[in-house]
Amino acid sequence: MATINRPSRPKPSAQQAAIRAALSAQQQSNPNQGRENPHREIYGSSRWKKLSKSFRDKNPLCRQCKQTGRLTPTYCADHIVPINEGGDPWDIGNLQPLCLKCHQRKSAKESHRKS
Ligand SMILES: [Zn+2]
Repeated sequence: MATINRPSRPKPSAQQAAIRAALSAQQQSNPNQGRENPHREIYGSSRWKKLSKSFRDKNPLCRQCKQTGRLTPTYCADHIVPINEGGDPWDIGNLQPLCLKCHQRKSAKESHRKS
């Protein structure tokens, strides 16, 4: 008499469920993933690069240094009213030429204000 060997079917995998749980836990532990920086869109755009370049061409010296009698080359076009505080990113009137030091000082103040 022949016995029929049935191939044993794999059970609904507990392993798979564990992997799925681990994956979703990983996603939850990373809530910032995929969150876009809204300013990156502006600073990365060719419109901004053009605007900031022409602004720096017209304003080659740091405004804050100039007020204290120093002549320092402009490092960037800075938003007087920061974008995240409602400033208009495209308004020339909201821009000022700053050197790297003055810009860093201003950014530090702004992030201090937020906390
Ligand atoms: Zn300066």
